[in-house]
Amino acid sequence: MSGDPHKTFYLETFGCQMNVHDSEKVIGTLVHEGYRQVETVEQADLILYNTCSIRDKAEQKVFHRLADYKKLLAQGKKFGVLGCVAQQEGEKIFERAPHVSLVCGSASYRNLPQMLVQLEAPPSAQPVSFDEASSRSPALSPAGRGISRSTTAAPPLARITGLDDRETDKCFETEFTARTNPHRGYITIIEGCDKFCAYCVVPFTRGKERSRTSESVLAEARQMADLGYTEIQLLGQNVNSYKDPAGGLSGKKRSFAELLAAVGEVPGIRRVRFTTSHPRDFGPDIVDAIDAVPSLCDHVHLPVQSGSDRVLHAMQRLYTREQYLERIAWMKAAKREISITSDVIVGFPGETEEDFALTLSLLDEVGYDAVFSFKYSPRPNTPSLELDDAIPDQEKSRRLEVLMSRQREIQIKRYKKYIGTISEVMVEGRNEARGQWIGRTSQNKTLNFTAPDDAAPKPGSYVAVRATTSFPNSLLGELVV
Ligand code: SAM
Ligand code: SF4
Repeated sequence: MSGDPHKTFYLETFGCQMNVHDSEKVIGTLVHEGYRQVETVEQADLILYNTCSIRDKAEQKVFHRLADYKKLLAQGKKFGVLGCVAQQEGEKIFERAPHVSLVCGSASYRNLPQMLVQLEAPPSAQPVSFDEASSRSPALSPAGRGISRSTTAAPPLARITGLDDRETDKCFETEFTARTNPHRGYITIIEGCDKFCAYCVVPFTRGKERSRTSESVLAEARQMADLGYTEIQLLGQNVNSYKDPAGGLSGKKRSFAELLAAVGEVPGIRRVRFTTSHPRDFGPDIVDAIDAVPSLCDHVHLPVQSGSDRVLHAMQRLYTREQYLERIAWMKAAKREISITSDVIVGFPGETEEDFALTLSLLDEVGYDAVFSFKYSPRPNTPSLELDDAIPDQEKSRRLEVLMSRQREIQIKRYKKYIGTISEVMVEGRNEARGQWIGRTSQNKTLNFTAPDDAAPKPGSYVAVRATTSFPNSLLGELVV
């Protein structure tokens, strides 16, 4: 459906790939409902933020944005807060940012079309709730649900909420996904999380774990291949706790490793990636699948969070350093070299110098190709809020610096060994200023390269590149002609 020029929206996304892909689905849904996406808030009738609350900083960004744009309310614009902050703060957002009309958590996106209709309706018909869960246990309900709606004065603005609680078993499946990259696309295979790591808001903001049928995932993969996509990234907070719910039309229930292999065998698909894996559910069958199916990329992101058993226990990760290293050993025994990356949190309550030293030694032992490291950030509702021994922010920053510089040294050595090797890259685009093409290897490394003018590669194509120079985070090379 083509957009109605009178209804325009601006959407800004914060946070992880799950949020980026949710936004692609939200954009597709809005466009189908007759809205047109615009590039600036000034051009938009409806301004939406798809928010992240994984750390306090991410959450604060949204409230700053909302405060900045308050003046735009006078121009008749409407504001909506989507995603994790919406789910976490619930109706409290209306108090903190009274110019907001729509608050919708990710578990309620399927109701967006009806919410949009309400948003356009005269204010007298509101407030309107699309929460299915008002009668369920308040313990797991989003914050703010307790707010009374019996305010004496009618609210001056539309106030619409979609705040399904943890118990929802609905997935957001839509045929209207506005994919932003013409060659590489995301497919959500599992939503929510049941792990309840002590520091993490995700189980509260994204609901319980619910998997799509493997048949519907495969149908989406085939459709994408038909449209010319060659790379697929399977998404979920814990992709390897995937459980095929129904078996689909064929009646076949697939494990995560089987689904991975099946997506990798879809004709036209040349690369399959997956994120994020949880060490607890990471089995050797995933490595076997990578060995057996060449289109499965030789890269695994396996967040460890800490190298100390004491801290892992306090984090409720439910694995030990030894068990984690066993998974690393499976990967290191694979036929192709698998690039391994991780997430680490420093300064978790009670983390001693000794614990931190164990994390540093784990970095040396594994030899990661990249580590995303974060200072522990206390989050609402999470069990770690109850823990004593908070680490001062200055000390968290120091540990973060030490960790990043140790990891940089490791990467300098690791990237150097690729000099002289030839890798296939997907061409992502061109950096005109540097006169280089931007490439990505199957191991998810950036390998930029030069090419003769008469052999300029096309974005989205796959070419062979010989690495000639290494940096801590990337490689530089030349096209093999
Ligand atoms: N599901 C993934 C897993 O289990 O590893 C990670 C999801 S989370 C969006 C991404 C990363 O954010 C986590 O791996 C963790 O390192 C970090 N993170 C989550 N909660 C945090 C907190 N409260 N403070 C600091 N970092 C946090
Ligand atoms: Fe958060 Fe842990 Fe779930 Fe990952 S597994 S999303 S870190 S609770």
